[in-house]
Amino acid sequence: MPFVLPVLPWADDALAPVISANTLSFHYGKHHKAYVDTLNKLTAGTELAELPLIDVVKKTTGVPDKLPIFNNAAQAWNHAFYWESLAPKSGGMPTGKIAAMIDKDLGGYEKFKIDFANAALTQFGSGWAWLVLEDGKLSIRKTPNAETPASGSATPLLTIDVWEHAYYLDYQNRRADYAAAVIDLLLNWEKANERLG
Ligand code: MN
Repeated sequence: MPFVLPVLPWADDALAPVISANTLSFHYGKHHKAYVDTLNKLTAGTELAELPLIDVVKKTTGVPDKLPIFNNAAQAWNHAFYWESLAPKSGGMPTGKIAAMIDKDLGGYEKFKIDFANAALTQFGSGWAWLVLEDGKLSIRKTPNAETPASGSATPLLTIDVWEHAYYLDYQNRRADYAAAVIDLLLNWEKANERLG
């Protein structure tokens, strides 16, 4: 099968207590895996199956008769990106280039924390909160369902999954608590710096 579920670099319980092993096993082992499996089924024998995942996302963005492929490709991409946006014993104050850019573009870390949590909280229904780089500047975005800034010209740097399956087992309806804990304890600033290049 051309599209594969990426192997996570840490154990199921590595993100606990912010994200429990139970949530991780369902989220990664069931939800993420289902997007990859469905994408393989939907693209089997087509030219899309020959392409890198990001190219499938870009090529199917906004194409009505490719919507099921887009949804599964974008969710496969978004989830791989989400796992990389998290790391055990991380989060809190950023360091390096991203810290300086947050000060310059987003009004400093304390304001970033509020604005990023607010994007996560106010995304109506399922979706994603994003820190992206566009035209040399950082910005915060939110997208519904499978939509992703990776479809366009922005460079995604970090994301938080705000679909209910990402937090409901651990936080029930308290999405704000989940987002705040991810920001404080899991955001992978090292990866964000790497993505800035
Ligand atoms: Mn998810």
